[in-house]
Amino acid sequence: MNAVNADLHCHSTASDGTLAPAAVVRRAHANGVDLLALTDHDELLGLPEAAATAAELGLRFVPGVEVSVSWLDQTVHIVGLGVDPSNAALIAGLDQVRSGRDGRAAKIAAELDRIGIHGALEGALRYVGNPALISRAHFARFLVEAGCAKNVHDVFLHYLARGKPGYVEHVWATLEDAVGWIKGAGGLAVIAHPGRYRLSHVEMDILFDKFRELGGDAVEVACGAHDGGQVLAFARMARKFGLMASRASDFHGPEDSPIDLGRAPPLPPDLTPVWSRLI
Ligand code: AMP
Ligand code: MN
Ligand code: MN
Ligand code: MN
Repeated sequence: MNAVNADLHCHSTASDGTLAPAAVVRRAHANGVDLLALTDHDELLGLPEAAATAAELGLRFVPGVEVSVSWLDQTVHIVGLGVDPSNAALIAGLDQVRSGRDGRAAKIAAELDRIGIHGALEGALRYVGNPALISRAHFARFLVEAGCAKNVHDVFLHYLARGKPGYVEHVWATLEDAVGWIKGAGGLAVIAHPGRYRLSHVEMDILFDKFRELGGDAVEVACGAHDGGQVLAFARMARKFGLMASRASDFHGPEDSPIDLGRAPPLPPDLTPVWSRLI
């Protein structure tokens, strides 16, 4: 199954990636990807351009989205794969999730201003490709430009992450709503990069159990955010909870991402790849 080079999670300028949707698809094709999902944060805007470019290149394309969710005290991301971009409930739900971002961005800028970093909102907005979607990644690029950190990774060690200046609490969608919108739009729901969540073993089990109960389908096992140990740990979680497994770069751009399109590690061979339901 790993003969298929599937990359089922990446970003374009429709959210916080640095490449336009067409350029993401061209790069994936050049890297040997043969099944690609574009999954912008809380946004479907990039899908028509990506689908058209994929059709020109003969690359199999899956319309996707990455929904921001608040669960316990964490932000959890749920990827939807194979969603119908014209589904009204999905569109309305994502509109609602996006709507909080402007106010949050103003608060992030105010926090940074208090520690002497001025003009962060204007600075971040220079990196924004879609006015409806300002993310911490745009602030991160501004903070690198302003000399506050040497790269985006370092920004998150010192700013914008919980407990650091520039972090603002925010309430996103519920897990129930996110899975419901994705399933209602005909998609498969996938827990994104679980290794990034600061959850105890017990809390992680509760998340997976709840997700399964809501009709969730898969978990990202091989992804840019996971080291080798985490790939094995979340392979065990996929088996334990009867979930399919996904493979994902979470690519944001050539400068910003540790893993390029199509370059996530392979899935352990006994797992059922989520793309068995997509091709
Ligand atoms: P937001 O949805 O506005 O909270 O922004 C989340 C985005 O910030 C993620 O999708 C990444 O693009 C970026 N991000 C968060 N944490 C990190 C990190 N530790 N290193 C690099 N980028 C990060
Ligand atoms: Mn992002
Ligand atoms: Mn994510
Ligand atoms: Mn992502």
